[in-house]
Amino acid sequence: MEQNKSMAAEKFEFKAEMKQLLQLIIHSLYTNPEIFLRELVSNSSDALNKVRFMKLTNPDIVDSDAELTIRISVNPDTSEFTIEDSGIGMTKEDLTGRLGTIASSGTMEFIRQMKESKQSLDANMIGQFGVGFYSLFMVTDEVTVETRFAEQGAKAYKWISEGHDTFEIVESDKESRGTKISFKFKEEYKDFASDYRIKDILQKYSNFVDFPLYVGEEKVNKVTALWHKRKDDISEDELNEFYKFISNDYQEPLGNLHLNIEGNVNFKALLFVPKVAPPDVFRASQDKSIHLYSSKVFIQDDAKNLLPDYLEFLKGVVDTEDLPLNVSREVTQNSPVMAKIKSILTGKVLGLLEEWADKDKEKYETFYNNFGSLFKTGVNADFANKDRIVELLRFETTKTEAGELTSFNSYVARMGEANDNKIYYISGNTRESLETNPNLEYFRKNDIEVLLLTDPADIFTIPYINEYDGKQIVSIEKAEIKRDDNDESKLDESQTKSIIEYFKEVLGDEVEDVVESQRLVDSAVTLVVGKAGMDAHMEKMMQLLDKQFKGSKRILEINTSHGLIKNLATLLGENKESEILRESVEQLYQGALLIEGYIQKPSDFVKRMTEFMEKATSK
Ligand code: ADP
Repeated sequence: MEQNKSMAAEKFEFKAEMKQLLQLIIHSLYTNPEIFLRELVSNSSDALNKVRFMKLTNPDIVDSDAELTIRISVNPDTSEFTIEDSGIGMTKEDLTGRLGTIASSGTMEFIRQMKESKQSLDANMIGQFGVGFYSLFMVTDEVTVETRFAEQGAKAYKWISEGHDTFEIVESDKESRGTKISFKFKEEYKDFASDYRIKDILQKYSNFVDFPLYVGEEKVNKVTALWHKRKDDISEDELNEFYKFISNDYQEPLGNLHLNIEGNVNFKALLFVPKVAPPDVFRASQDKSIHLYSSKVFIQDDAKNLLPDYLEFLKGVVDTEDLPLNVSREVTQNSPVMAKIKSILTGKVLGLLEEWADKDKEKYETFYNNFGSLFKTGVNADFANKDRIVELLRFETTKTEAGELTSFNSYVARMGEANDNKIYYISGNTRESLETNPNLEYFRKNDIEVLLLTDPADIFTIPYINEYDGKQIVSIEKAEIKRDDNDESKLDESQTKSIIEYFKEVLGDEVEDVVESQRLVDSAVTLVVGKAGMDAHMEKMMQLLDKQFKGSKRILEINTSHGLIKNLATLLGENKESEILRESVEQLYQGALLIEGYIQKPSDFVKRMTEFMEKATSK
């Protein structure tokens, strides 16, 4: 292998953000330094899974008969550590493109935020960043990676880095397939360099590694597929550790589902609901959610078609005997076996959520607060299960405390005569802004409960449900309200008619119509949607999505029992040309727009208000 030596060492620079990350790892991640071992073993295990899969379709690879193992050795005298696997190995491109970069582009931003908010960065989190390998630099100053890719004819390379600015690649004379990583522990971590210590660390999760794992000459794991065990034989601890192993999460899961299905289709599954949703920046790494096995042989860790999108937050393993082993990913994706598994899994997951909703409210709400936004999109996407999903939806309402959730079912149970057999909702950004919306006045006065929808996902789901239990679901802005009280204090018919005419004259094209309000109690005016329109919040959401989107014109409702409206009607009777009359109408309209967050010229609004105040205060 002399000729390999002829290649001079090539030097590469880490990208700027990689450098920052490395700095951070070296200097601020001192909790749990032993995490480096979990990350290395997990990378080796991935590499072994990949080569096992590769062999299914291409038996002619380097060392095709080699045993699939992970071997670790340490030397207490020199503080040296080596881990070697017979996995798929890395090409030169892998070494520069995967080992030298951050997989998730949002990683740095996330870390920066964590630092700013002074939250402690736990080394446990590093797996989430897709940079687990670099946790090594917590415990060492220099790493050597020697690797040969499994394809016949692939060259072997040596990658060396001190984890600062650069890494070096040179051809290597490694003949066997796979990857060998070696380094010397830093002085302060040299106690890791003992078989006992390494075995102790591996204890926690080594049992989930699918391949024999050796420390020195001793095999330290049992290689059991956890999901093949009987439910009663699995401890809570094992489940939690297994979850962390496959999910990269550092927290325990909220709950799990263990299935052994036999019949039309046969599979075993072990699925987990995480406790918290990963920050948005890790959406990409979330793709690795379901690990698919075929008769205990790993096929892929990002099986897509096993769960509908709205249940994508689940993590876990599905193992089936019904898929042929040597099939391409595409064939797997479209196999009817997958569709059958998906349908069963969906039903079972909904069953689990129903059980929580029924028996463990707190657990269900934790789930809902974290994954509700995604989950509720199932209303539109999964027609077959729509009713079950609708039953699982939760909301805040005018009758719940902030943060307290209720269901359609409980809403209906509380419904009274005044509801007129309808379920009402209002949507907006926050509970506080909704609670002060004048359109709620009628509902409050008549003790009618209104759903307060503040999750943007609600806007795209709730209006599409149309009906629950035979009760129409309507926006309060569109609700037609019948008021039958003979309010003595109202303007009479002719005054009402002329003040409405006057409003129309002043506002002209600005509004679709001006009408007498049935819903207002305390406020003078409010805007509502016309028959064909969307409610105000929904329109705003549409505009966010589509800049060209033009909302429909609104209807202005005026409260003919309100003191101000009555004053204006009197003024109108006296002098139609009055300046303050015209200004007041304009101001009322702009104020209604302001409440909806629509005001176009806030400066005009304030200017007019200042003038009013000046007039009101002058003697
Ligand atoms: P992640 O494992 O989350 O992708 P890492 O930083 O741990 O992030 O590893 C980066 C990449 O380096 C891996 O995705 C893989 O392509 C490659 N890699 C790391 N260790 C090995 C190994 N032992 N064998 C083959 N490839 C490896």
